[in-house]
Amino acid sequence: MTAIDPVANLSALIRCPSVTPAEGGALTALEAMLKPLGFTIDRVMATEEGTPDIENLYARLGTGGPHLMFAGHTDVVPVGDESAWTHGPFSADIAGGEMYGRGAVDMKGGIACFVAAVARHIENNGPPNGSISFLITGDEEGPAINGTTKLLEWAAARGERWDACLVGEPTNPDQLGDMVKIGRRGSLSGTIAVHGVQGHAAYPHLADSPVRGILSLTQALMDPPFDGGTDNFQPSNLEVTTIDVANKAVNVIPSKASASFNIRFNDTWDADSLKAEIIARLDRAAAESPLRPGRPPVRYDLTWSERPSHVFLTRNNALIASLSCAVEAVTGREPKLSTTGGTSDARFIKDYCPVVEFGLVGQTMHMVDERVAVADLETLTQIYETFISRWFGHAAD
Ligand SMILES: [Zn+2]
Repeated sequence: MTAIDPVANLSALIRCPSVTPAEGGALTALEAMLKPLGFTIDRVMATEEGTPDIENLYARLGTGGPHLMFAGHTDVVPVGDESAWTHGPFSADIAGGEMYGRGAVDMKGGIACFVAAVARHIENNGPPNGSISFLITGDEEGPAINGTTKLLEWAAARGERWDACLVGEPTNPDQLGDMVKIGRRGSLSGTIAVHGVQGHAAYPHLADSPVRGILSLTQALMDPPFDGGTDNFQPSNLEVTTIDVANKAVNVIPSKASASFNIRFNDTWDADSLKAEIIARLDRAAAESPLRPGRPPVRYDLTWSERPSHVFLTRNNALIASLSCAVEAVTGREPKLSTTGGTSDARFIKDYCPVVEFGLVGQTMHMVDERVAVADLETLTQIYETFISRWFGHAAD
């Protein structure tokens, strides 16, 4: 049977230099694995002015429900200093029990294992009692404009509906079986500009320093904490990521100062309630700035970055149990159900169906010498195969 070996699948994918936005042959290689298994395959080109065109892939096996989606990306980040790699970044060389290559763990490895798991499931049980689809983008590591969101819209417009999704991003910090992700924090960014009056540093009463204002405002954003965390999430955290004055002269009070911030927030908030809290803090600090006793309120404006990421938590027990039981059955370890880390494409998928994430060990992702233990590829394939059986078993109940 074709495609049952995750190592062969991965080496075919790694040999395709699919650095975003290049397809690099990776989707063609994937298509060659899925077609013999009976999948119907669509290659979907997404375009938007000002961004590179991106090719994506949607493949479905079966026509009825229940419908399980596997989501991921074949694009990879740049190799960096190629001469620093022990083995070529597109070589798929195996040494010391590890396969080397860009995308080995993030996340061609996850795709290679899920393909192998589906192939084995078909070999052992026949076609699934429902449908399995692959939603694979070439734009996860880039601007993510012509990727998962557009592919989901395209598929939904054709009438595709899903009951659950597994994203194959690397989720394990140290060892396979550590961690399943069942949600993600939200992310919101903004920039504050404080307007002052330029003047001589020796005559501050004739000027108005925006530096005093920006310090009071950024302090108010960082303290006190936004919350103490919730059952499923760590505390929300705001970082001031830059403060800019761009003043070269020590004897001049500048006219403007700005600062940007990013907050990773939990399910205490949504983007709107959080924006309201931030504005309230800024207004209060502007009116009562301790660094400007007796002066008028700080004059500032606030610009939000486009597209906040919304916080989400998956509460579908059949999906979570199928996955964590599969992890435990194969590895003997009970995975932690976590919502830590950055955002992922799961934040788009959650608008269509419940979504969980489990993949390889992430330690070398985006690094020189990205690599995966060959043994982990076999273990992850077994976990995915067990998950598929359990999920279709659950869904049929
Ligand atoms: Zn990734």
